[in-house]
Amino acid sequence: MSSAPTFQSMPDESGHFGTFGGRFVPETLMAALNELTVEYTAAKNDPEFQQELKQLLADFCGRETPLYFAERWTEKLGGPKIYLKREDLLHTGAHKINNALGQILLAKRLGKTRIIAETGAGQHGVATATVAARFGMKCVVYMGAVDMERQHLNVVRMRLLGAEVVAVEAGQRTLKEAVNEALRDWVTNVRSTHYILGSALGPHPYPMMVRDFHRVIGEEARRQILEKEGRLPNLLVACVGGGSNAIGLFHPFLGDEDVKMVGVEAGGHGIKHGEHAARFQGGKLGVLQGTKTWLLADDDGQIELTHSVSAGLDYAAVGPEHAFLQAEGRVEYDFATDDEALDAFQEIAKIEGIIPALESAHALAYVKKIANNYSNSDIVVLNLSGRGDKDVEQASKYLLPSE
Ligand SMILES: *Cc1c(COP(=O)(O)O)cnc(C)c1O
Repeated sequence: MSSAPTFQSMPDESGHFGTFGGRFVPETLMAALNELTVEYTAAKNDPEFQQELKQLLADFCGRETPLYFAERWTEKLGGPKIYLKREDLLHTGAHKINNALGQILLAKRLGKTRIIAETGAGQHGVATATVAARFGMKCVVYMGAVDMERQHLNVVRMRLLGAEVVAVEAGQRTLKEAVNEALRDWVTNVRSTHYILGSALGPHPYPMMVRDFHRVIGEEARRQILEKEGRLPNLLVACVGGGSNAIGLFHPFLGDEDVKMVGVEAGGHGIKHGEHAARFQGGKLGVLQGTKTWLLADDDGQIELTHSVSAGLDYAAVGPEHAFLQAEGRVEYDFATDDEALDAFQEIAKIEGIIPALESAHALAYVKKIANNYSNSDIVVLNLSGRGDKDVEQASKYLLPSE
């Protein structure tokens, strides 16, 4: 790896990225997190583990994913050459399976027989139910009751795959409460159970481990752009919910000083309290669900309501490594509103024949906004984190004339 050790060697032993990250959990989970860290470190250095992961990523998930030159969109915007990293073409429709697969192999190594997960929109739940089916493990997915209604199709998919989907009725009845419920289950059943956390969030070692399982995105993109263009891109762009697809793309490029990186958060209805999920726009430093990072909270430290048209970006905290990269000035964070994302969603469908996930549409919207600042000789690589099949009904409410 040619990248600078300061970024590549993060986090430290205690799971800190600078002042961010760490491990804020009940005492009962400390042993399990230690066990997980030790086993993960061993697996990372075990060629047999890596070979099995690589083979399954290829044959079960469909890696490597293409790096696609969006020729017509590039022409329309009249700015840089735009390449799309096609994570939307992976099995189950998004990048999430990279991590779910890595973690279930780890669970097998740990001798665990039961898998739990949280899910918001249902994408991580589907990825987890998929790998649990593949490895014959019992699977329980916690999902907010509101999300279960909004994402009914994914609930059906999970059940078809043999998972039990448990409705969470607490609080806002969405993702945050589902994570709490999963953590509660894990405390109780930690001997038999592995918790497959779905983003670069939570207590150490999750942010590091989830990042590592998604680094394949950036490693491939780096190799592919060098093959196609003979040089590195000027700009990398990815949407940021918890931050797993973004850190997966960015991480292998962190040492390349001339490569600029921008993470795009959900601007929702605009940057007003309770109307967005852009943690770097008016967020506070705090602790949520095991990690210290930027989050959206009021003056008493109560977590605020969040809003985004895309469920996958609708979360009050950002992954701690992103907080660190922002503090270091290595990565910039911007946002796109619901309207801007919906506009980009429609444009890329019409002009490139690709219906993107609404999450990914935030990254597309950002590129639309800044295209004028770049010249024809510049190169942008955008992570198309998922496909939009799941979002068609949601989008139809906004985009099509009502019947
Ligand atoms: C879940 C999801 C996201 C957001 O999660 P990150 O951890 O920030 O990557 C983005 N895009 C798609 C398609 C998703 O399913």
